Amino acid sequence: MHTYTKIPDTALAIFAHPDDAEIACGGTLARWAGEGCHVILAVATQGDKGGDGDDPGRLSEERTRELLEAGRVLGVNDVIQLAYLDGELENTIEFRRRLVTLMRSFRPEVVLTGDPTAVFFGDLYYNHRDHRQLGWAVLDAVFPAARQRAYFPEAGDPVEELEVLLAATLEPNTWIGIDGLVDKKVAAMRAHRAQLARYQDSLDRVVAERARQAARMVGGTGEAELFRLVRGGA
Ligand SMILES: [Zn+2]
Repeated sequence: MHTYTKIPDTALAIFAHPDDAEIACGGTLARWAGEGCHVILAVATQGDKGGDGDDPGRLSEERTRELLEAGRVLGVNDVIQLAYLDGELENTIEFRRRLVTLMRSFRPEVVLTGDPTAVFFGDLYYNHRDHRQLGWAVLDAVFPAARQRAYFPEAGDPVEELEVLLAATLEPNTWIGIDGLVDKKVAAMRAHRAQLARYQDSLDRVVAERARQAARMVGGTGEAELFRLVRGGA
C-alpha cells in the first residue's frame, strides 16, 4: 500500500452528485486545501432526483446551495457545476470534451474521482449508474484525450501525465492520512441535508469509524482515506 504524502499544487475532484466528493474523499480535499493546494471541485449533475424529492427544480437549487456550503467547509477554491440531469449521465464525446477542457484549463497534477470498476459493495449496495458513467468518462478524459493534442484541440494545450486517485474503490493501493479532519468531513457532509438528513444521527460515528478502519488496514492508528492510484500514461 502506497502512502500518498505529496500535497499537490492543484487538484481537480470530479464527481457525479453534489454530495459524492465529501463522502468519498472530503478529508483529503480538506487536508490539501488547508495545506495550500488549489482544489477544484467539479460536480457533473444537479442531483435533482436525489432522496425523496418530487420537485426537481427546487431540489437542484437546494442542492446547489448545500454544495457551495460544503465547499466552504472543506475550503475548496472553486466549485464548478456541469449541470447534467441526475440519472442521465452518459460517457459521451460532448461530456469528455467538457472534462478535458477542465483538465487543460486548471492543469491539475492529480484528478480525484470514483472507481467505476467498483460495482458490488457486498450485498448492501451496488454502484449508482451515474458514478460508473462518470468514473469511466473521467478516466477516458485523462488518457488519452487530455494528453493528446488531436483530441479536442479547441480545449487548450495538452496536459502532462496525470495521476488519478480513485475513491470509493474495492481495490485500494494508496492511502492518505486525514488525522484531525474527520469533523470537517462530517460537517461538509452535514451540509447536504437534502440527501443525508436521515443519517444525521449516525454520521459522526460512521465516518469516524470508517476513517479509523481505513487507517488500521494500512497499519496506522489515526484516520485515513483509501484510494486506487492509477496513472494516465503510455
Ligand atoms: Zn452520488
